[in-house]
Amino acid sequence: MSLPRALPRALLRRSYGTVQSSPSTASIASRIPVALQEATAAVAPRTSWTREEVQHIYETPLNQLTYAAAAIHRRFHDPSAIQMCTLMNIKTGGCSEDCSYCAQSSRHSTGLKATKMSPVDDVLTAARIAKANGSTRFCMGAAWRDMRGRKTSLKNIKQMVSGVRDMGMEVCVTLGMIDDTQAKELKEAGLTAYNHNLDTSREFYPSIITTRSYDERLQTLAHVRDAGINVCSGGILGLGEEDKDRVGLIHTVSSLPKHPESFPVNALVPIPGTPLGERKMISFDKLLRTIATARIVLPATIVRLAAGRISLSEEQQVQCFMAGANAVFTGEKMLTTECNGWDEDREMFEKWGFYPMKSFEKGEEVTVLEGEAAPVAARS
Ligand code: SF4
Repeated sequence: MSLPRALPRALLRRSYGTVQSSPSTASIASRIPVALQEATAAVAPRTSWTREEVQHIYETPLNQLTYAAAAIHRRFHDPSAIQMCTLMNIKTGGCSEDCSYCAQSSRHSTGLKATKMSPVDDVLTAARIAKANGSTRFCMGAAWRDMRGRKTSLKNIKQMVSGVRDMGMEVCVTLGMIDDTQAKELKEAGLTAYNHNLDTSREFYPSIITTRSYDERLQTLAHVRDAGINVCSGGILGLGEEDKDRVGLIHTVSSLPKHPESFPVNALVPIPGTPLGERKMISFDKLLRTIATARIVLPATIVRLAAGRISLSEEQQVQCFMAGANAVFTGEKMLTTECNGWDEDREMFEKWGFYPMKSFEKGEEVTVLEGEAAPVAARS
């Protein structure tokens, strides 16, 4: 833009107040925790995070936190690519576990009817529909405590896994606890990832589930990892936990021998008839803060905006993507809860400049520097 010729010289020399009073780079940096400054410069994930470091990052003023998360997101990922996954319940309800949030536990009166496992052909048809609609990852969930004594079911699930892989899609299952042999069998069938959420911090966990321990969950994650299957493990927000529990969850997964390749962030969808049926949804700032912290601490991981997305406005979802979330569940249903549909997501992506991530775009593994200080590109 050219300036009008008649503009007095004095005015041209004048310094404007907003410029004069801008804080210096040094004063902004002094308000950013050292852990965040180091994380922002990192060029590879690390597993040596302390809980205090994660907490300092989590407590950073939200606009600084999301800005840092966006910068890290750009270094490790294509920030416009969002993975589209479809999650199908292949066996609904009747689960013997007592997870307080879950409609599928037989211990809660939610009115949900238990079903037998879906036939292999039905599942493959659903996967084909998901692929035709743009999903590149197909996840299958069964409401079981574990896979003990389920030989026929495992055989059928392996057929589903290899059938979905043959379609060129990534395939994930969530079947409760599995042992090392079952994990190896699923790997041989072509399984890409196994989902087993830690849900929350170790300390808060017993207030939510009493029928299996945090260590049992970690044991299943170890079996999955040892079998060479990608790990998908995250949490649920709004269970009544506090900030320190969200920090604890992120710290636990960040200090596993390898970071999970996928970290789902679910917002509790309260189901009437469950012990948490009356809870309010987590506030958006806490959800955003958790996503941004996960993006910073688990830089190469896919951060999955999972259950509860349907309650967010389009603008809130986009804020989550800008702060580092890069996967969604899309389709008709997400287990027993409503889900944003393919058409709606396509429209949103086009409007805001996002596009679907290709299958296997992120590769099979996250490379982590184990037990070392964060490698830095430059220190500020
Ligand atoms: S193990 Fe899974 S299906 Fe069973 S009650 Fe817990 S969350 Fe629900």
